[in-house]
Amino acid sequence: MHFWEMPEQADAFAEKAMGLLRQHKIPATPHNYELWFTYAVGQNADLQRALDAAVASGKACDVNFAGEIHARFFTDARSDAIDELGSKFQEEVKRLALILAGAGQDTAAYGLTLAQVATDIGTGDVAENFKSIVDGVAAATRAMESRTKTLENQLEASAGEVNVLRERMEAVRQESMVDPLTGLANRRAFDQHISDAIDEATSEGTDLCVLMGDVDHFKKFNDTWGHATGDQVLRLVAQCFKSNLKGRDTAARYGGEEFIVILPETSLKNASRVADQIRKAVESKKIVKRSTGETLGSITLSVGVAQYIKGEPVADAINRADTCLYAAKHAGRNRVCTEQDLGAVEAATAVAAAS
Ligand code: GH3
Ligand code: MG
Ligand code: MG
Repeated sequence: MHFWEMPEQADAFAEKAMGLLRQHKIPATPHNYELWFTYAVGQNADLQRALDAAVASGKACDVNFAGEIHARFFTDARSDAIDELGSKFQEEVKRLALILAGAGQDTAAYGLTLAQVATDIGTGDVAENFKSIVDGVAAATRAMESRTKTLENQLEASAGEVNVLRERMEAVRQESMVDPLTGLANRRAFDQHISDAIDEATSEGTDLCVLMGDVDHFKKFNDTWGHATGDQVLRLVAQCFKSNLKGRDTAARYGGEEFIVILPETSLKNASRVADQIRKAVESKKIVKRSTGETLGSITLSVGVAQYIKGEPVADAINRADTCLYAAKHAGRNRVCTEQDLGAVEAATAVAAAS
């Protein structure tokens, strides 16, 4: 049992959650309540960060946002779809089993008819009963033939149905790995990919790097141009990631305006080059408001780059990339900082601060 499942604690967290909902003017829907109760418990740093960002951006009371974030942190709405497909699959398999059992009975009955005929031929007066024996066999064979045809059709239909279900299942699986706004891998997909990449780097002894990118002053952009335009910009940034990666590199949306990239078989130096290409691509885009054609200037990206050290927990490499990202922000944004530059960037920042 979790400590917050004890009545007194649960009450305290519930009160805190309701207080937060009131404070941020968020309707107390079941989703929102669960999100903010978990926030109140304070043991899910990612969720807390996401909700803080939502409050900061004014998105916290948005119903769609609540649904999206609830799906990300709790059930994953798509698992309902998977469950539904799963039970359809089960029904189809049961139906198939029934068809086959029925066919088994028919075949057994046909076998019995033939066995009976064989006995009759052996024991009775064949000449006298010949016509009725042959008629009996012919009728049983016709019945079996038509039953076999029906069976074939049923099996074909069932196989078709199973194929459709399999394709839909695959589509849902794929969808559950994609961030709906940008089309990049989502956090869950990232977790899977990084763990595979680490296994490979460990067993093959290859380099593996992680890039962490964050849009600069994005809050200000949203505040100035609105959240919807901000969302378009996130799509554009995602595009810059996609078009500068290749092969087995994976870019994911890590959170609000944060992106993360896994670069297998890549040295720190080359990872830094890739990071700079992405940074330049973002910088070079002119942001134009679609509805009015108005030019909104440009946006920039800061990137931190770290190399995975064999045997370390994945969180350590991500934290180092985050530290580098922080250093890049600190050193003036719109730049790339790797672990190797870390000392130099910090020293330069300290000098600049002192002067
Ligand atoms: P910094 O350069 O230090 O990164 O500054 P920042 O303003 O980008 O950072 P901060 O963490 O203060 O704010 C992040 C902002 O990103 C808050 C929110 O407005 C915006 N944001 C986060 N997620 C989304 C989203 O899904 N859509 C939009 N439009 N904006 C988002
Ligand atoms: Mg950020
Ligand atoms: Mg930012």
